[in-house]
Amino acid sequence: MAETILSGDTAGVVQNLSNFLEEHGPAIKSRIKTPLACFDVDETLLEWGADDSSRRREEVATLFNLAVKEGYKIYIITARDKSQSGLAYLKTQLASLGFDTHKIEKIYMMPSTESDVGQFKSDARSRIIQQTGGKFVIMVGDQMTDVFRAPGSLNANRDFAHVFAAPDDGVVFGVKVSEMQDV
Ligand SMILES: [Mg+2]
Repeated sequence: MAETILSGDTAGVVQNLSNFLEEHGPAIKSRIKTPLACFDVDETLLEWGADDSSRRREEVATLFNLAVKEGYKIYIITARDKSQSGLAYLKTQLASLGFDTHKIEKIYMMPSTESDVGQFKSDARSRIIQQTGGKFVIMVGDQMTDVFRAPGSLNANRDFAHVFAAPDDGVVFGVKVSEMQDV
């Protein structure tokens, strides 16, 4: 089972992880030919308000920008329903929140034929790894299914962020940010 290497409030965990990734940037790039980063969307890159408005989740935006700066190839894997209009809407939404969508290599949305989120996300990661020969330095989401293929019985306090070492094949750090409070 993957080891939890960092837990705490999301801002602090992101700060610690960012420092580590920056400090060890050269070592990471010498060991991993194609470093990758992946982000979930809902309650991760953005959070929804009660009035159906969305706003940028700043701690996660910090990680997104760090991934850009460190030259990681960036992917989005979301359980939002796969459709052309949904994809267009998502790109517009992310751009309107200030994310540099030109830095996103590809967006994976969940086809209606899939029902297991953890499996869908893990399979998408495997395809990306196969196609790029890379490895995910960070895989960021707000749910256990964002970082684990099958979360199992591992318990994580929902109010905190957790960094897991090697939670899935080809993932160095699984970053589970705190789950948003119901509004
Ligand atoms: Mg989410």
